[in-house]
Amino acid sequence: MDYLRRTWADIDLDCIVHNYRELKSRLTPGCRTMAVVKADAYGHGDGYVSRALQQEGADWFAVSNINEAISLRRQEVARPILILGCTPPEMAHTLAELGISQTVYSEEYAGELSRAAVEQKAVIDCHVKIDTGMSRIGFFAQHGHEARAAEEIARVCALPGLSCTGVFTHFACADECAGDSRDYTRMQFRSFLDTVELLEKRGITFALRHCCNSAAALAYPEMHLDMVRLGVVLYGLPPSPEYAGMADLRPAMSLYTTVTMVKTLEAGIAVSYGRRYVTEHDGQRLASIAIGYADGYRRNFTNKGRVIVRGQYAPITGAVCMDQLMVDVTGIDGARSGDVVTLIGSEGGKSITLDDFAALNGTINYEEACLIGRRVPRVYI
Ligand code: PLP
Repeated sequence: MDYLRRTWADIDLDCIVHNYRELKSRLTPGCRTMAVVKADAYGHGDGYVSRALQQEGADWFAVSNINEAISLRRQEVARPILILGCTPPEMAHTLAELGISQTVYSEEYAGELSRAAVEQKAVIDCHVKIDTGMSRIGFFAQHGHEARAAEEIARVCALPGLSCTGVFTHFACADECAGDSRDYTRMQFRSFLDTVELLEKRGITFALRHCCNSAAALAYPEMHLDMVRLGVVLYGLPPSPEYAGMADLRPAMSLYTTVTMVKTLEAGIAVSYGRRYVTEHDGQRLASIAIGYADGYRRNFTNKGRVIVRGQYAPITGAVCMDQLMVDVTGIDGARSGDVVTLIGSEGGKSITLDDFAALNGTINYEEACLIGRRVPRVYI
């Protein structure tokens, strides 16, 4: 029934598989992959995407919370899953039952999780998160605090009910190519290795050490270690505009809607809320199309964005409404109701990408992908 709304997103699973292979071919031999499929696989649909990647050999999956992890298990994802955020300790038995690994990021949290695990007679596989430069969750190992972090982690590794088999950190600016950003990433890597070495000296070792996100996996092969965490590249998106062309990535998501009605207007007619656009000449043809900000098509595109109709760009005229917007199809021969409109994707040699959205909105392609609305049905092709 959703499909009848005539607005949908195609998700090309072959592109996702291609992107996975493209990245995999660049990894140090033996390096494992963790597919980051949080936020419904960056808006692409966690189940379909993860099953395709599982079949392709992705070793691990990463999500942000337990709901996302349960969703994967329900959708036949059998491989190991790591929760990157906090899981309430009372869910310890669920983690153990479903074989889901949990990030531990502070002594306080690890203690609570350990107590809950012991009470619930569970043993939870954990990956220890070290904060080497994000100042987000993690054992603080910045600015010479590696030894203190190692002390804390050593105590955590001895807690009952927890089995700490992995250790990781996250880079703050691996997607930036400027010299000082590269220095910062190298400094983070050094701090990570130093902390892990201090632990090794105490006889504490981890089977999986991982620090690379997509950008670092591409730009810093020497940092691959035992596993890389690949997110945005799997969806065919560069980690930042600076990375465009660095790998053969194929965007997996296209977004379409349809023309509901076309009007031919005279000059001086106000269009949409707030009369932010007024027709400029007699005979101007405006098409109303069936998408709006409730679909994640931003109101900020008012008088700024463009779409593709019959292989030609059509500029947005007037405010984007909740479920509709208007575009100028004056020069587009034959444009009429029922025409398919491309909002993300390519048609007739013209293309619009999530990076174009990001540039117009002053944000990053990650955010744009995640914001494509839940009510837009995903069609897997
Ligand atoms: N690792 C962690 C801890 C993350 O939070 C994320 C995404 O935000 C990733 C890996 C994947 O990053 P990317 O999509 O840049 O590959």
